[in-house]
Amino acid sequence: MQASVLVINCGSSSIKYALIPADDAPRLEGIAERLGSQEARLKAKDAQGEAHEGALAGADHAAALAAIFERLDGHTPVAVGHRIVHGGEHFTRASLLDDEVLAAVEQTSALAPLHNPANLAGIAAARELYPELPQVGVFDTAFHQSLPAHAYRYALPASLYRDHGIRRYGFHGTSHAFVSQRADALAGGNDHGWLTAHLGNGCSTCAVWQGQSRDTSMGLTPLEGLVMGTRSGDVDPGLHAHLHRQLGWSLDEIDAMLNQRSGLKGLSELTNDMRELEAAAERGHPGASLALEVFCYRIAKSLAALSCALPTLSGLIFTGGIGENSPRVRAKVIAALPHFGLDLEDAANQATLRGREGRIDTGLGPQLWVIPTDEEGQIAHETRQLLERQA
Ligand code: ADP
Repeated sequence: MQASVLVINCGSSSIKYALIPADDAPRLEGIAERLGSQEARLKAKDAQGEAHEGALAGADHAAALAAIFERLDGHTPVAVGHRIVHGGEHFTRASLLDDEVLAAVEQTSALAPLHNPANLAGIAAARELYPELPQVGVFDTAFHQSLPAHAYRYALPASLYRDHGIRRYGFHGTSHAFVSQRADALAGGNDHGWLTAHLGNGCSTCAVWQGQSRDTSMGLTPLEGLVMGTRSGDVDPGLHAHLHRQLGWSLDEIDAMLNQRSGLKGLSELTNDMRELEAAAERGHPGASLALEVFCYRIAKSLAALSCALPTLSGLIFTGGIGENSPRVRAKVIAALPHFGLDLEDAANQATLRGREGRIDTGLGPQLWVIPTDEEGQIAHETRQLLERQA
């Protein structure tokens, strides 16, 4: 396993990791969960794909990371690539995490109070355990720093942007970058305009022109835009005042409702899991059918809006757990965009599942691609690129 990069994605109580080799050798990957509790566990997959599970009772981020290093079968990575959710306007690409850069990441924590502190905890633990390894930050927001001002500014008093950084940032940048670069490679050349739809538990769309993000559906926070598993996506900004004045809801209650009890789960009153929703809709569950309709319509509406950011449309790309696995969602989204001249090939759509990459159009209209995302691979790739620039 030559020149592998250890990719780390740190949440408040979990660490996902993957040791990514420079070649096609198998990856070692896993997750440490429920950190900080007696139930903490490490689930790991070895090079043969065998699953292992062990207790990590009471482990914090540092203890979990030490346990993860022990599971790397003696491979020492050349660097650690950290996923960082919010890079604000400071970071337009991957950056070496020295003291100065870490101070800038800390400053952006106000914009992502749930995510950046957890990312920083992982970075601190990795630096302490392995001071000799370069630590690199790869930001979810960085790919979208190419948005023009007319796409990233809200129509709010300008001082809110100037003094407090209130603007649209966009997220899932690593995924949109990966799938659009992959589509460039598959289609040939990089003179393309792609509309990408990352549909997982979190969902976002992006318009990519000649390899650069020109607009995206998420904004200041990952709540803006599409309907998601438990997140509402766009609502009337007057909703907060209405719920507060009419129902006496506090800001915290409104925030929790929009993030945790809305989206597919809120609409269906059933589940945020697309597989279960599709099965329930088949059985005639009206909430599940409605949730599916709203979900797909809003994706199509978002893609149509983002098409304004592209001089020409080469095609659409579906990715994420739902985008990669649900022919029904893909077909419904495409059916809601009749004026785009899209021509879905049904058999290819039905057959492109479970991590398969494939083109699902007939060749008559814009291209339609299913491209499994690889955020870990992209983080490792950007980490290597940075090391090469510095060599
Ligand atoms: P995350 O955003 O947490 O990384 P994923 O990208 O794994 O999430 O996507 C999770 C979503 O993908 C869930 O809604 C899940 O139901 C959906 N999904 C996974 N497999 C299928 C499938 N075979 N058919 C439909 N939806 C699926």
